[in-house]
Amino acid sequence: MTYQAFKSEVLDKGFDLDGSFGWQCWDGYAKWCQYVGVPYANCTVSGYVKDIWEQRQTNGTLTYFDEVPINSLGAGDVVVFKVSQSTPYSHIAVFDSDAGNGWGLFLGQNQEGKYRHANGGSSFNLAKLPYSALYPTAFRLKSSYQKGKQGLGIPTKRVNGDLFSGLVTHVDPNVMNADNNRARVNLIVIHHNAGTSDEAARRTWYVATGVGTSAHYQVADDKIWGCVGEESVAYHAGDYPTNQRSIGIEHLNNSGAPNWTISEATYRNSAKLIADICQRYGIPIDRNHIVPHQSISATACPGDIDLDKLVRMAQEVAKGASLAKSETVAQSGSFRVKVVVKDLNVRKAPSLSAAKSGVAKMGVYTITETKTADGHEWGKLKSGAGWIALTYVKRL
Ligand SMILES: [Zn+2]
Repeated sequence: MTYQAFKSEVLDKGFDLDGSFGWQCWDGYAKWCQYVGVPYANCTVSGYVKDIWEQRQTNGTLTYFDEVPINSLGAGDVVVFKVSQSTPYSHIAVFDSDAGNGWGLFLGQNQEGKYRHANGGSSFNLAKLPYSALYPTAFRLKSSYQKGKQGLGIPTKRVNGDLFSGLVTHVDPNVMNADNNRARVNLIVIHHNAGTSDEAARRTWYVATGVGTSAHYQVADDKIWGCVGEESVAYHAGDYPTNQRSIGIEHLNNSGAPNWTISEATYRNSAKLIADICQRYGIPIDRNHIVPHQSISATACPGDIDLDKLVRMAQEVAKGASLAKSETVAQSGSFRVKVVVKDLNVRKAPSLSAAKSGVAKMGVYTITETKTADGHEWGKLKSGAGWIALTYVKRL
């Protein structure tokens, strides 16, 4: 997470790298270049800030950066602003995250930061600015400079001219329903197959089968399939404008009607994929940006998939958790745990035969015995009220 580390290091601080005009936006850009190891002298010009973009073919910028469309901005991408009403001078900053409705948050200097330099400019801050003020492409560090630190550190894959998460284990070679009329991606839509056959689900999305639907990814126990590339629109949400701006993730069920559940391994694969996508696009990992199909159109999809749990697991991955399956089974002696508001949903123990439906109150509990099932460690309550998941509960 090079960008996040950089951000926390520079916020509200100012840097004057060229010794003129104080803390200007180009000094902020220079600071970012310096931070990631790009020789600043090789990716700037002596003219106007806009020349960093306008003269990119000759000024050396593209030696260190790839050009990416504004639609696919990710945290850490460098953007240049045209002279416009909202940015009266050309301006350069680093993309942080999407702010909705055509605006983004950008990290940079001299965008009305908290502290001012006597010679001009102001300290690093996050500013909300419209994408419409940007030149049409951004600069993304070439992978050799990313050093595995952007996103989850897994380089994306290019297959058949389109972009896939580096987490895909397979790419389905069949031609799927899709088009290129993509908008800015700022949403993940969660689906389930309503079926337990991986192959049958994917076959539905082939152009050849004539159903007319599709998805970007199909997640199963032991596979993450790339289906439609992220630079293309897939037909999954039942609403075209939503399709244009979203990535659709399908999940293979491990049980049929009426519950349509997915396995713990599928949850884990999906959480990693979600974290990877969100970090690459600067999408917040929350319930406003990771939504069930049924929030967009009338459907029972995604069945019994627990969105709160999936989002929480993706947040854990983004924070660095591996989500490797726990090998720990028993812990001798009793211990105390504290359940707080955010833990309350982690309480079902579906495959533990002795389980009752668990605790739904905040409080401190004594655990007398533990076991692992469904990828969670479960604790038996001394009170006799059953088992609770210990995975996210604080041990005292
Ligand atoms: Zn669906």
